[in-house]
Amino acid sequence: MLDVREIYAEPAALDSPRGRQVVARLPGVRVTEVASHWRIPALHGNDGNVGRWVRIKTDTLVLGVKHTLRTRPNGRSADWIAPGSSNGCAMACAYCYVPRRKGYANPITLFTNIEEIVAHVRRHVRAQGRKTEPNQCDPQAWVYDIGENGDCSVDALICDNTSDLIAAFRGLPTAKASFATKFVNPDLLALDPQGRTRVRFSLMPHQDARLLDIRTSSIHERIAAAADFFDAGYEVHFNLSPVVLRPGWQLDWAELLTQLDDVLPARVKRQAAAEIIMLTHNQSLHEVNLGWHPRAEEVLWQPEAQEAKRSQNGSLNVRYSPAIKRESLARLRHLLSTHAPWLHVRYAF
Ligand code: SF4
Repeated sequence: MLDVREIYAEPAALDSPRGRQVVARLPGVRVTEVASHWRIPALHGNDGNVGRWVRIKTDTLVLGVKHTLRTRPNGRSADWIAPGSSNGCAMACAYCYVPRRKGYANPITLFTNIEEIVAHVRRHVRAQGRKTEPNQCDPQAWVYDIGENGDCSVDALICDNTSDLIAAFRGLPTAKASFATKFVNPDLLALDPQGRTRVRFSLMPHQDARLLDIRTSSIHERIAAAADFFDAGYEVHFNLSPVVLRPGWQLDWAELLTQLDDVLPARVKRQAAAEIIMLTHNQSLHEVNLGWHPRAEEVLWQPEAQEAKRSQNGSLNVRYSPAIKRESLARLRHLLSTHAPWLHVRYAF
């Protein structure tokens, strides 16, 4: 997954305990100081990097300091989105929204001021008090998404940010951390979350994953890992996402749900819940993808079924038109009730 040969780092990140720890774990790797982790011309502004999209994710790491620590309300997957401890990813899902504003490269950026991030989250949790009304996020706990812009399981291969956040939530009985992942990292099994972290394994039909989920653990591995993670103290949910509409999609989702029903033990099914997220895409990412993985765009970019919407930052996002989306969600819910009726849907979007 990672064979780091180059680190770009803000000086303050290099000076921090977490930054020093990461660099010490990568002896001999060249370190280049940069003024900002967010604007590195050799990475983000270099269109020659498109052909090296995956290679850069393997061999490049960025270290930065997260200056704006803000917890945002969400209300769908989680009650709150915590300030992430990373941005970017070593995996290369073709539909990933994280690189939308990052130009021509999206390797992992680790934020080294983890103590500040954890302290901020602790203060926020304590300020909420107890959750008094159950909601779709959780019946009792305030749920904080800790991995909005990366994959915490992969981050844990190179630093302790994920471990520190899981440890913090262990001591917060009114809250729960939550993150989606497409990578099975057995190291996480030793982190003793004591039920205060929800891991959401993302699932899609095998055929879609082979085309779109580049560098991830296979769908078989993710399903097989669910019981181990539950037994290690995680709450285990599933993200059925993104749902990509193409000929044969219903048959393949039925097969996936049947596999889930066959493989998962009853103890995992009893506590499981799912989110369903229909594909959204983006014009500039479409253009970047054409440079490194054009076959993915044959299923992701379907202008006849999708409608475009200009986002606040000016980029053009596309999603299935409302009628198509409504009908597809109804069909997927029907497949769920037929093949995995135990899988409660927390929300569909
Ligand atoms: S695992 Fe998540 S963050 Fe990483 S590339 Fe895939 S969608 Fe993006």
